[in-house]
Amino acid sequence: MTAQRHASVLDGVLEAVWLVQPVSLRIRWVNKAAVELMGSAASQLVGTPAVDHMPTPEDMYFWEDVAAGLAFSIHSDSLLRCADGQLIPVERKISRVVPEGADSPLFMVSLRDLRPQRLVEGELESRVAELRATLESTGDGILVTDPAGGIRNYNRRFVELWDVPADLIDHPDAALLFRHMAQSVEDSDVYQAQLDAIAAEPGLDANDIILTRSGRILERVSHPQISRSRPAGRVYSFRDLTERQEAQKRIETLAYTDALTGLPNRLMLSQRVNTVLKTLRRTGGSFSVLFIDLDRFKNINDSMGQTFGNRVLIEAALRISQGLREVDILSRVGGDEFVAFLQESDALGAEIVARRILSQLSQPFMVEEVNFSLGCSIGVAMYPADGRTIDGLIQCADTAMANVKERGRGNFRFYQPQMNVDLLSRMKMDHAMRQALELGLFRLHYQPQISLSDGCLLGAEALVRWNDPELGNVPPSSFIPLAEESGFIIGIGNWVMTEAVRQAVIWELAGAPVVVSVNVSALQFQQTDFVERVASALQSSGLTPQLLELELTESILVRDADEALARLHALKALGVVLAIDDFGTGYSSLAYLKKFPISKLKIDRTFVMGLPADESDRAIVGATIAMARALKLTVVAEGVETPEQRDFLKGLQCESFQGWLCSPALPAPEFEALVTKLAVSELSCSSP
Ligand code: C2E
Ligand code: MG
Ligand code: MG
Repeated sequence: MTAQRHASVLDGVLEAVWLVQPVSLRIRWVNKAAVELMGSAASQLVGTPAVDHMPTPEDMYFWEDVAAGLAFSIHSDSLLRCADGQLIPVERKISRVVPEGADSPLFMVSLRDLRPQRLVEGELESRVAELRATLESTGDGILVTDPAGGIRNYNRRFVELWDVPADLIDHPDAALLFRHMAQSVEDSDVYQAQLDAIAAEPGLDANDIILTRSGRILERVSHPQISRSRPAGRVYSFRDLTERQEAQKRIETLAYTDALTGLPNRLMLSQRVNTVLKTLRRTGGSFSVLFIDLDRFKNINDSMGQTFGNRVLIEAALRISQGLREVDILSRVGGDEFVAFLQESDALGAEIVARRILSQLSQPFMVEEVNFSLGCSIGVAMYPADGRTIDGLIQCADTAMANVKERGRGNFRFYQPQMNVDLLSRMKMDHAMRQALELGLFRLHYQPQISLSDGCLLGAEALVRWNDPELGNVPPSSFIPLAEESGFIIGIGNWVMTEAVRQAVIWELAGAPVVVSVNVSALQFQQTDFVERVASALQSSGLTPQLLELELTESILVRDADEALARLHALKALGVVLAIDDFGTGYSSLAYLKKFPISKLKIDRTFVMGLPADESDRAIVGATIAMARALKLTVVAEGVETPEQRDFLKGLQCESFQGWLCSPALPAPEFEALVTKLAVSELSCSSP
C-alpha cells in the first residue's frame, strides 16, 4: 500500500500521525505515536471515520469541505477523543499530501498532545496571580524595571505613594514616569545623584531616604534583579516613613517639653544649659538662674478648679517669657514653678529681669471673666559663684525663692550659702510641727493688756507655745512663718481658736471675763469657711462674742480688698472685736483703715523699742496715736519693757500697753494669779 511505504519514515516522528483517505474520509494508516496517544491498537483505528476521533464542529465542517473538494488544509487547536472516551487538547494540522508514486492524494493529520504545555501554562498563570497578590498585599510601593529601565511591574501602593497619574503608569515611555517621580521630590539634585549611583553600578543594593514635595518621607530600597548571574532589571520598594517619623517626633516633643505650656521641661533645660556650660568652662563667663514660684496659685487652683488653674499657668508662662530675651530659656519644672536661664547675665542683669517678671505677674489677671491677682517669688543663683552644675544652681535658686516666701512673698532674692542649712532645718521643723499638733504639744500663754489710764486689765493676747521634748522651747518666730509657708498654719490656727475660746468661756463662767485676742494669719483669714468657723466656735461654746478679739495683719487688708471687706463685716456682725496687729510694719495705708470695721491698732514693738529717745520712733508713734484717735480707734502699744516707755505712751494718751514691764505671756493658772494680784494689789502696772 502507498501509505505503508511511508510507515518507516512516519513511525520515527514524535507526533501522532494519521493518513486519511479523501473520498471515504476514513483512516488509512496510523503511526506508533498515534497508537500510544489514542490508546487503541492500529487495527482498531484503521478504517474508522476520521471525524469520529475529533468530534468538534470545526473538524466536522473541515471534512465535509474536503469531501466537496473545497478545503485542503487546517492548522489549529482541537480535541481528540481517546479510547477511554476522554477528550484531550491537541494541536492539529491537516494537509493534503501526494505520496510519491501514488495515484491519488491523501490527507495527513498530525497531532501534538497539548496536555504538558497546558499544565505548564496553568502553573505559570497561578504563579503570576500569586505574585500579583503578593505585590498588592505589601504596604510598600513596588516598582520593577527591566535592564533598559522599562517598566515590568508595579503595585497600586506605588501609584498611590507617588501620586502617579492614570495615563502615566501604563504609558509605553517609562521615561515619563521617571520624570514625574523626579519632579515630585523636594531635592531633585540629591535624588538624581542617587539614581546615577544606582545606574553606574547595576549590581548595587541601594538604600536612600527621599523627601517628597507633598511632605512625605519615603525610604527607597533598591535591589538588582539577577537572572542567570546577570542583572536582569531592578526592584524598587518605597516605604512611607512619614507617620513613623511624626510619631517619633511626638515622642521626643513629649519627652522634652511641658505639655501644658509648651515650654521646655527640666530635661531639655538641663541639656541646653549643659551645652552652654561646656563652652563656659573653657572660655569663662557667667549666667544666672531664676527660680520663679507663683504666689497664691494653690488657692486659685483649689478654689477655681484645675482647668482654670491651667489657663492661669499658661498666662503666667506667657508673661514671664515676655520679661526674657530671645536667648534666654524658660522652663516649667513643676506645678507653678518655672526656671529661667539667663544667658550671659551678671547679677545686675538678673535683678533687672527679676524685677520685670515681678512687675508682669503683679498686674491683675483676668481669666474667664474672673479678676484676680497672683504675684510671684523669685530666687536667683549665679554661675559660677553659686554652683557649677545646672542642678546645683536650680537648687540654690529654689532655696533663695523659699526664703522670699518666708519673708512675705512677692519679691526676689539672691542665693546665700547659709540658706541651705535653713532649708534642711525647715524640713525637720515642718515634720516636728505636724507631730506636735497631733501629740497635743502646743499650749496657749496669755499676755495681759493693761489700761494706761488706770492700770486695769483690758484683755489678754493668746500666744502659742511649743515645748518640744526634743527641740526644747521653739519660739513662734521660728515656726509660725514656716507654718504659713506650708499652709499648716491653718491647722495650728484652728487649734488656737478653739483653745482660746475654751479658756475665755471658763473665765467668763467664773465671773472674771477677759477679752482674749487671737492672732489670725493671712492664709487662715482667706479660708472660705473662716467666718463660719468663728461663728460656730462662738455658738458651740456660748462665749459672749465681745470677749473674742481677732488680731489681723495689714497684709490681709491690702490683698483682695473687696473680699476682705466683706469678710470683716461678717465678723463684725458676729460681735467680735477686730484689731490690726504690728501696725506700721506692713503696707500702712490710711485709706483702708477708714474703710474697714476695725476698732483697734497695735503699734509694733519695733517702734516702741526706741522710745522715748529715738526721734523718728517718737514721731511715728505720736502720729499713729493721733490718727487712731481721729478714726476713733483704740491703740495698744506692744513690747513695753520700761517705765519710761510706758510713761511716754501714757503722755501721748495711748489707751493701753502690752509688754514685759507688766508680764510676759503666762500659762492660764499663772495669768489668773497675776490678774488677782493686779486687782487686789495697790501695785498696778500703770504706775510705779
Ligand atoms: P505678735 O502677735 O506681735 O505677738 C507679740 C510678740 O511680742 C509675742 O512674741 C510676745 O511674746 C512678744 N512680746 C510681748 N511683750 C514683749 C516685750 O515687752 N518685749 C519683747 N521683746 N517681746 C515682747 P511671740 O509669742 O514670740 O510671738 C511672735 C509672733 O508669733 C506673734 O507676734 C504672732 O505674730 C505670732 N504668733 C504667736 N502666736 C500665734 C498664734 O497663735 N497664731 C498666729 N497666727 N500667730 C501667732
Ligand atoms: Mg499679736
Ligand atoms: Mg504684734
